[in-house]
Amino acid sequence: MGAIDFKGRVAIVTGAGVGLGRSHALGLAARGAKVVINDLGVSRDGTGTSSEAALSVVEEIKAMGGEAIAHGADVSDEAAVKDMVAQAMAAWGRIDICVNNAGILMDKTFSKMEMSAFRKVVDVHLIGTANVAHACWPIMREQKYGRIVLTSSASGLYGNFGQSNYGAAKAAMLGLMNVLHMEGARDNIRVNTLAPTAATRMTADLLPPEAQELLAPETITPGLLYLVSEDAPSQVILGAGAGSYAETRVYETQGITLIGDENTPEAVAAQFDQIRDDKTQEQLDGAFGQTKKYALNAAQAQGLK
Ligand code: NAD
Repeated sequence: MGAIDFKGRVAIVTGAGVGLGRSHALGLAARGAKVVINDLGVSRDGTGTSSEAALSVVEEIKAMGGEAIAHGADVSDEAAVKDMVAQAMAAWGRIDICVNNAGILMDKTFSKMEMSAFRKVVDVHLIGTANVAHACWPIMREQKYGRIVLTSSASGLYGNFGQSNYGAAKAAMLGLMNVLHMEGARDNIRVNTLAPTAATRMTADLLPPEAQELLAPETITPGLLYLVSEDAPSQVILGAGAGSYAETRVYETQGITLIGDENTPEAVAAQFDQIRDDKTQEQLDGAFGQTKKYALNAAQAQGLK
């Protein structure tokens, strides 16, 4: 496999003023991409705004001979996102890569969580990601080329105490990716999800100093660069941190089929271990893969097939 480069490619990276987004933007620019450095410049919980961080990343990229522009769109604001995409088009005439990375945390146990904080986190992560992907979508379709990455989290994929809002928003990336993967395939739009774990201000008070060094954002960016490269896969959830990479997949067990009078809650309880038996698990090919499997199971059990 040849070297991965992004010459002639235009990328938007959201939340690119600090942390992972900054590292991804510098990584893209170092390999030739022109980059829109989006950042609202908010604190970890989404308060305040500043253009300072985004502008300093633009300066870093220019200092290394690259091209970059800053844009302070709040990703949860559809009109501001449209303006950002229009400015990227005005500057460079295309958008090849969209890295949805902007994010905030408003942690509280569910019993103490205000619904306004739940909504705000979903707005930034899920609606923000959809806004940016949606504004880039017609451009990518027209070009017959697009690479989109959504940023999930182990918190969404596996759960984390005190993060019902964040976990729900991050798990939603999986659903969005699956559908965009299918709808984008015919126009050469590939959609993947990164599940990073990094030492940034987001995790500053959770990690001991030794771990902070190992988990530098720069250890994750090579995985992101592969996910937005020309030969990128699609519909992959790539876990990344400290140089480790692994894929998270969703499987369904073979399960059981209960027909007619056998189909009772007691029978489900009695066979629950078998329903959960993962020896014969499989990855399903879309929602109708499941419908087809169940209909076939039932037809076979009734001797109809
Ligand atoms: P960070 O707090 O260091 O940076 C986030 C950036 O997003 C900030 O620059 C902030 O200003 C920007 N931002 C926030 N809300 C915005 C909005 N509405 N519009 C535009 N920009 C906005 O965070 P990070 O640790 O670099 O995380 C980056 C992404 O990775 C986030 O989506 C986060 O949820 C995800 N993530 C991080 C970790 C980790 O270990 N750090 C783990 C899992 C997932």
